[in-house]
Order: sequence, then structure tokens, then C-alpha cells
Amino acid sequence: MKIVARVASIALFFGVLALMITAWAGFPGGKPKPADVKVYMEQALLAPASAAGVQTKEQLGQSGETPIKQAVYAAGAGKQATSAAAAQAQAPKAEKKVYLTFDDGPSDLTLEVLDILRKEGIKGTFFVLGEQAEARPEIINRIYEEGHVIGNHTYDHRYDKLYGHFQDFWTQIKKTEEVIRLITGERPQLVRAPGGTAGHFDQAYFDLMEQGGYRVFDWNVDSGDSKRRGVPAKEIVKGATAKVSGSEAVVLLHDSNGHEESVKALPEIIAYYKKQGYAFDVLTPDMQPVQFKAQQSAVKASQPSRQWIEDHVAANAKLFETGRTLALEFGAMETAFEPGEYKMEGGRLLVPLRSLTERLGGEVSWKGHSKTVSVSLGGKRWEADPLRRTISPAESWGRPLPSDVHLIGGTAWIPLRDALAASGHPVTRVTYEDAEIRIITL
Ligand SMILES: [Zn+2]
Repeated sequence: MKIVARVASIALFFGVLALMITAWAGFPGGKPKPADVKVYMEQALLAPASAAGVQTKEQLGQSGETPIKQAVYAAGAGKQATSAAAAQAQAPKAEKKVYLTFDDGPSDLTLEVLDILRKEGIKGTFFVLGEQAEARPEIINRIYEEGHVIGNHTYDHRYDKLYGHFQDFWTQIKKTEEVIRLITGERPQLVRAPGGTAGHFDQAYFDLMEQGGYRVFDWNVDSGDSKRRGVPAKEIVKGATAKVSGSEAVVLLHDSNGHEESVKALPEIIAYYKKQGYAFDVLTPDMQPVQFKAQQSAVKASQPSRQWIEDHVAANAKLFETGRTLALEFGAMETAFEPGEYKMEGGRLLVPLRSLTERLGGEVSWKGHSKTVSVSLGGKRWEADPLRRTISPAESWGRPLPSDVHLIGGTAWIPLRDALAASGHPVTRVTYEDAEIRIITL
């Protein structure tokens, strides 16, 4: 009797196992096939990621039904899509992105926010006030050094001073920019309007800020932490995790004095987005900003004269361009990249890997199966992996080194320093002249 029972239970076990295997193999969402990933990537490269769709009243603060305007920056769309594709290749469901943004700091609470972000291994975007940055430069330094992004949130946040004349808004942006530049050496290009643009920016504000080279970011998820004094953490978590219709959530939080409850809510907000499969990222100037649409109801600001625009705004965008030729000495060879052919990001020079290699007489090929770039340059062979963001020299196959090589619109860009080191010619000296940056290698 005992034996019969055991045979029956073994049979039952295998029966269930067989059923499970059948169900798993036949289930459409079971296991992503390589072909699916490829199709996804191609679509992602073609289709600009949508920033946001329908908004709830709460998400838009005081403004109600404001639709979102999607400013299109061609390069930005490509970059977003490829980073989404990269995330897809690593983890099937990681194409959703969340951007945690913290406004009105820095304050003592910023330090607690930074501790949490460090512990969680994620980066955030801080829209700081010039007035606060001046008072707490050491916190600005810490934000910068820990790899977060600093944006400009004007100098004193006073609506009555900011939204009557564009010139006043501009003056506060420039003043804050200078405060931050003196601390970190970099000008913030990202701007968030105090209270958001809705009801504050007329079309001229949008146009002039864009002409000046800035990127204005609103949000599509409002944590509601500044709706009134002392909003409890539980309510902030609820607001910050409200469903967003697109694949990107730009979450508004505050780290100024009095926002202890936001800090308390933060770990739970992070846990929610991690559980939902979101990747955390920082806002960048070349992405497609989430913006509220200029409204008829916006304060009609007095507009600056053509001469004033000419004097202040027109040339400003050049501050964010790299106008110098990048000259490169490499063994017996020399080549140059013109402005626009390379990028300067956070003090780092980035170049397209293919043009760098070919101009220096090397060979480069794309390996479709491993999705890596194979390079032969300066007598060295190495591989760059833009999805895993590593490079592997031939002498240490299997021991990849971290490098910020990444795809932008199908082109692999690489930190110049990493590419030169891997090719046996590490950088020995960099000289900065007005018209030229010159790189001298070993
Ligand atoms: Zn603010």
C-alpha cells in the first residue's frame, strides 16, 4: 500500500512538472527570445520615447488641465532610445526610467537625501537655488562629486520677482549659474522654473530660454510634498508613485528645510520604482524635456527689446558648446576633431569610436552577435561594449574595465582618455588654448 502511494506521488510529481514545462514554453511572456530583443531595439531606435501623456490635476499642481508639450531634440530622442535599448538587453523589463528630482535645496536635508541615494546606488537631479548654494557650497560640492546632476532653480524663488519681466528671470538664472560655476567649475544647463512653467512661462519665456541654450524641465509625477506644510510621508509616497502613462517618470520632490517627510518617504519611493522595474537616471541636456505647454492664462510678461536679447541671450548658448578644435597627437600621427564632432561632458572628452580609430589608421568593426565594437589601433586590440559600458583589452580578455562607452543614435561614443589608454598611448598632457584643445599621448 505504501509503495503504491509513493509511485502515485512520483507520477503526480512528474505530471505536474511536465505541465509546468509545457505552460512555460508556450507562454508568450515567458522567456524573451533573442529575436524579440532585436526587434525591440530597432523600434526603440526609430521611435522617440514619449515623455508623458495624460496628466491628473494633482500632477500639474495649480494648473489643472495643462497638456504636456514635447519639445523634440533629435539627438536626445536617439540617446534615450538607445539607452532604453541597452537596458532592455540587460534586463528584459528595464526600459522604464525614473528621474528623481529635488528642488529648492541645498539644505541639511540634502545631506540625508545624498546618504540615501548613495546607499541605494542611484543618482538624482538637484534643482538648486542660488541663494542656498551660496550659503552651503560644501553641499553643492558633495552633490557634484557624488555624480548627481545640478540644475538651476533661480536665485531666490520669488514668483513676484521672476514672472513679471523676462529680464528678471534671466538675471536670476545667470546669477545662480555663476554661484554654481564658482563651486563646481561647471555651468548648469538644466533649468526648472519655480512652481513649474504652468501659469508662469508664456511662450516668450520658453523661446528665449531655449535660444539661450538652456533646457527647461517640468515634471510628470508630483509627490505633492509642497502642497501644504507637513504633508505626511505616506501621502508623499502615494503622490510620488502615481501611475505615469509613458515609460518615463520625472518625479518632483523637495529637499529644502521643512521637508523631513520627503526624506522619510524617499526609501519607499525608491523601493517602489525598483520593484516596478524602473531604471534610475539623471536628466541631461540632450534628452527630450518634459514641459508643460505655454498657456493663454500665463502671466503676460513684459518682453525684452530686440537689442537686449541680442546682448544677453543670443550668444549665451555658445557657453554650452565646445567651440574649440580638438587636436590629438598619437605616436607619429596627428588628427583633429572639429566642434560638433566631439563632446565635452563633465570635463570629459568623448569622441565617436569609429572616427577616432579610422582617423588614426586603425580598424574598427561591429560584432553583431556580441553587440560589441572590435578595435585594432596602435598595435593593440580591444573591444568596447556600449551596453555593459566596458572595454576589454586583448591581453585581459574576460576582465573588462568600466568605461562610459555608449550608443547615441547608433554611434558608439567613448571617453577619449579610455580609448587612448587601451590603444597603448595614454594621455600625458592636455593643453587648453582659445581655439584648440591639444591632447598629447605617450
Ligand atoms: Zn521650487
